[in-house]
Amino acid sequence: DPRLEAISAAIRVVPNFPKKGIMFQDITTLLLDHKAFKHTIDIFVDRYKDMQISVVADDMQMIVGVEARGFMFGPPIALAIGAKFVPLRKPGKLPGKVISESYELEYGHDRLEMHVDAVEPLERVIIIDDLVATGGTLSAAISLMESQGAEVVECACVIGLPEVKGQHKLKGKPLYVLVEPS
Ligand code: 5GP
Repeated sequence: DPRLEAISAAIRVVPNFPKKGIMFQDITTLLLDHKAFKHTIDIFVDRYKDMQISVVADDMQMIVGVEARGFMFGPPIALAIGAKFVPLRKPGKLPGKVISESYELEYGHDRLEMHVDAVEPLERVIIIDDLVATGGTLSAAISLMESQGAEVVECACVIGLPEVKGQHKLKGKPLYVLVEPS
């Protein structure tokens, strides 16, 4: 798919950010490139528009996005397939009743939160983020959804770091990634 080359080319790699030794994959340059950004959304939409995401009702199809960069890719996909969008946020940001899930970072811990009334049992969801590395973030997202009785159909990211093999951590859920940095 030639679109994948355009997407790869639009992602800027910034060495030593946020700290020495890290090759940061910067998706803000993908957002600047209208064609490549559209290709990105189109590929996900083509994949999910015909997938039966909801067993309950059509209007309960759900895309879940992980703060912050999952918020840039999730909503356009949700709009295009006629799904609702549910944000998973960092601690203390959501005003309603939340459930939360901790996950490990390279140094320390972080937490994701979700409004309890955002999800209903049996809803089938796709979880979106920009990048998967260890898979820790997506695993926490999966746990949150499953704790509410939702069923995670697949996790999807624009970028997958190949050396980390995040898919082993994803609680057996499929992982779909568009590009892997060389
Ligand atoms: P994981 O939990 O899989 O180890 O890390 C994935 C999370 O870290 C994602 O939420 C992603 O946004 C963020 N992340 C880690 N490294 C990078 C990077 O190089 N570029 C971007 N855009 N996000 C990163």
